[in-house]
Amino acid sequence: MKEKLLDLLACPVCGGNLELVHEGPREDREIIDGSLSCVKCDREYKIERGVPRFAALAEVEADKAATAENFGWQWTNFTQDDARYADQFLGWLQPVRPEFFKGKVILEGGCGKGRHTALAHEWGAKEIVGIDLSAAVESAFEATRHLPNAHIVQADIFQLPFKRAFDYAFSVGVLHHTPDPGKAFESLASRVSEGGHLSAWIYGKENNEWITRYVDPVRTGFTSKIGQPLLYQLSKLPTVGVFLASKLIYRPVNKVSGSIASKLFYNDYLNHIGSFGWREQHNIVFDHLVAPTAFYISKQEFEGWWKEIGASSVEITWHNRNSWCGFGRIGKE
Ligand SMILES: [Zn+2]
Repeated sequence: MKEKLLDLLACPVCGGNLELVHEGPREDREIIDGSLSCVKCDREYKIERGVPRFAALAEVEADKAATAENFGWQWTNFTQDDARYADQFLGWLQPVRPEFFKGKVILEGGCGKGRHTALAHEWGAKEIVGIDLSAAVESAFEATRHLPNAHIVQADIFQLPFKRAFDYAFSVGVLHHTPDPGKAFESLASRVSEGGHLSAWIYGKENNEWITRYVDPVRTGFTSKIGQPLLYQLSKLPTVGVFLASKLIYRPVNKVSGSIASKLFYNDYLNHIGSFGWREQHNIVFDHLVAPTAFYISKQEFEGWWKEIGASSVEITWHNRNSWCGFGRIGKE
């Protein structure tokens, strides 16, 4: 933990300021071990292996913990890198461009292994703070500790340990895996200053009936319950189908004729993921099978979330015809 993070932190229980009450030897500018104390309620929070800990997994409710643990395993076992990540990330954040990050204090709700944290840093964020509930924070910390303005915190999105001090917050692919996506969205928005901005990308309900009908029962009843090393192997089987179809059918047909392609099942999405290699596709399939909790959200419901937080200038975009990107301003025009 870098000491300047203290300016943004607050007690997740009472909102009081936190102070550093104990620390071991630093490595470069990082506090590796230590403890933080709330000046108001005296609660103590540990800093372990460089990461301040506000959510010991044993203390969070069982389904949240299961989701976090399953994704944590994935993020420490799929560590491939791909130049297309930046484009993919911008696709989820549309209409945001890299210049938008410059000079902003930014909060990332659900950072996984820190891939987007690093991109936000690269694009000039003044400070970028990534939170995650899972053990993926260990990888995220290792991936970003050398970046002077990047911070990783282990925390629950429903109980964020921060002041309302951010210019921008974003969450991609995380809210729909929490037990109450709308509440998680509200919680994230509550840490953005008046006039700041928020982005969220979520699974859509529209066009995903086949997933809720055929894939979800397999996911909730079987694949999210078996061990992840076994699922890692088993999920190669459906990946073969997706990989061959996307490479041999969807990509070529989309190149030749858009009007024929548009008649193919789930075309926009399968054509999109056809641009990725085997490992990334395996990761995507695994991702769909591993989560104990997943919600599919309609446009109308998503619009309701933005109304609820009183956002203005809200832009909602249909992404690959199966998910929603939202971007808006906190507070009135
Ligand atoms: Zn407190």
